[in-house]
Amino acid sequence: MNRETSNTYFNRAQKTIPGGVNSPVRTFAGVGGIPTFIKSAKGSILIDVDGNSYIDYIGSWGPMIFGHAWQPVVEAVSKQLEKSSSFGLATEKEIQLAELIVSMVPGIEKVRLVNSGTEACMTAVRIARSVTGREKIIKFNGCYHGHADAFLVHAGSGALTLGKPSSSGVSAEVARNTLVAEYNDLASVENILAEKENSFAAIIVEPVAGNMGCIAPEKGFLEGLRKLANRYGTLLIFDEVMTGFRLAAGGAQEVFDVHADLITYGKIIGGGFPVGAIAGSGFLLDFLAPAGPVYQAGTLSGNPIATTAGLTVLSELRDKPEFYETLENIGDKLETGLSTVFQKNDIAAQINRVGSMISVFYSDEKIKTFSDVKKADMNLFSIFFHQMLENGIHLPPSGFESWFLATTLTESLIDQTLEAAEKSIQQIKIEIA
Ligand code: PMP
Repeated sequence: MNRETSNTYFNRAQKTIPGGVNSPVRTFAGVGGIPTFIKSAKGSILIDVDGNSYIDYIGSWGPMIFGHAWQPVVEAVSKQLEKSSSFGLATEKEIQLAELIVSMVPGIEKVRLVNSGTEACMTAVRIARSVTGREKIIKFNGCYHGHADAFLVHAGSGALTLGKPSSSGVSAEVARNTLVAEYNDLASVENILAEKENSFAAIIVEPVAGNMGCIAPEKGFLEGLRKLANRYGTLLIFDEVMTGFRLAAGGAQEVFDVHADLITYGKIIGGGFPVGAIAGSGFLLDFLAPAGPVYQAGTLSGNPIATTAGLTVLSELRDKPEFYETLENIGDKLETGLSTVFQKNDIAAQINRVGSMISVFYSDEKIKTFSDVKKADMNLFSIFFHQMLENGIHLPPSGFESWFLATTLTESLIDQTLEAAEKSIQQIKIEIA
């Protein structure tokens, strides 16, 4: 496959853009090679600047649940553009989007729109700190909540040690207030809570982890977090930036029947435009300015373009809940097909899937925690990734990322993907022999 133009663009990009990209995973640092520069996309087909086409399993990292350039969004946004893209003043569409979210997600009374998942999570924590008068938070190893300072922290040595910055430029002072527990390990959370009672403002978690590949919560894990949060007087924040409106209209809260105090959204609710949201009870949301003491603002927050696109996508999901069945069927066909390919070829692989989030780990053991993920063979994933790319399938360029399925993945596209997987595995067998 000729990727010369992508190569040229990457070299050119590095002269004016740090690292050549505007978000690190796009460099292919996790798998090596030349990053793809995209020209256009329609449905589940990506076209790169060299004219190569690929079946897309990134879906812009989640938002494109109905595929690219979905006509209703194209039309609605085009109409709105004629009326201006931003006023910096209030609009009815913001009310409509808030009302729609409130009507679709049980237990939510109010919503504040922001411009990214990062902002949403950062603000949720700020509310939690204000409400509880406490400063510390607990996050989980391998979960990602955006690039705000408080989240760029990893576990220090020893289970109960304080968090350490995982990025240069994050102060040790900030990192000290973030403690890191192990996903799917309730004891690790309770140990931290018990050690420093009355210190924790919030536990923040991806209810289905999607930033260390896809990892489902073990039975009882989310329920256990809810109980621990209640017992220790800390808020529970579900980061549903990936799972919100993807797993069900009511997101992971609906699927697992566990309710958080604050929920953060992004991705799908902007229909492919930059967006984020914090949602919860009226009592908690009214801590936000101008109703309450927690400052939060945004020039483009609730802008008519993102709001129009979000309204269009969410209305369709509300009106046609059968889309969730379609996505489940697509996921099931892909999972079953891949599993057959791996078994037939004697490749030890674990396929983790929750609805339309799926990932493959090359490992003998079940993958339930970040420690399990670290034991998986990421080198084999890289080889698989490049073989798939060569065969016209664009997977996320990292074994630590979930793949996102769209309703536009037809049976024939899944069949092509499975054929490509078979070919890729044959190639891998030759390479590792
Ligand atoms: N939370 C989760 C679970 C995410 O996956 C992401 C981004 N992938 C974020 C928060 C941050 O969102 P954004 O990139 O829009 O800032």
